[in-house]
Amino acid sequence: THVLKIEDLHVAVGDKEILRGVNLTINHGETHALMGPNGSGKSTLGLAIMGHPGYEVTGGAITLDGRDVLAMEPDERARAGIFMAFQRPMAIPGVKMADFLRHATTNVRRPERKEGEELIPMREFRKELKEKMEHLRMDSEFARRYVNDGFSGGEMKRAEILQLAMLQPKFAVLDETDSGLDADAVRLASESIADIGHQKMGLLIITHHDKLLEHNPPDFTHVMLGGRLVETGGKELADELHRHGYDRIRKAYPEAE
Ligand code: ADP
Ligand code: MG
Ligand code: MG
Repeated sequence: THVLKIEDLHVAVGDKEILRGVNLTINHGETHALMGPNGSGKSTLGLAIMGHPGYEVTGGAITLDGRDVLAMEPDERARAGIFMAFQRPMAIPGVKMADFLRHATTNVRRPERKEGEELIPMREFRKELKEKMEHLRMDSEFARRYVNDGFSGGEMKRAEILQLAMLQPKFAVLDETDSGLDADAVRLASESIADIGHQKMGLLIITHHDKLLEHNPPDFTHVMLGGRLVETGGKELADELHRHGYDRIRKAYPEAE
């Protein structure tokens, strides 16, 4: 089974230390909810896992099945099976969803492939894409749209879920923070993630929506405060924070911020 392990991770943006010693182990098949007030460092953790160049790791380790993730370029991390859905995904005008997905899927399934070498065969890819889209109750027209170009919040979410379904990553970070989805879109996203099967990957879900967790109850809930995970619990901790906010946490860990 696969394990993503984060040990005493320190991350700085410029000369400001954002993460101050994060420890987190995600086993394949587990769902972890990451919560915490705005600015506590949740997105920074996701971006550091993906290797965003603006986020400098100043200490600690990230490993995937014992392999040093920090030594990998961002695209190697993706090929190794780590996926992140960005809070504000980039639009790629002129590139259709289907073509983007065919490249990305090929890269993950054939990690040794060199640039310019063959993609997975069109017929095979089309068939799989069609099946996955039907399963997720998505209109086939969606695959012909340009990636994130003029997408609504709900469409961006659907694009992200389609990527998850096609890429079948070992580990996925879903950063939902200010995605501005209405309740129906969140419910659809939650159902779709459950349809893909959280047992088939390790999930780290950053969310303020209890609805997103409805069909994906977290095995663990972590609370970030001031760049550290100050508390870990089960689903009941997520429920408590959704209901009552972070006052109790702030009082309990006054030195953390
Ligand atoms: P969260 O996702 O929990 O709301 P973030 O990880 O986005 O928190 O941010 C944590 C802290 O790091 C904040 O104080 C934020 O201003 C700072 N930060 C994050 N990214 C950058 C950046 N690219 N440039 C400057 N400051 C940043
Ligand atoms: Mg430390
Ligand atoms: Mg964030």
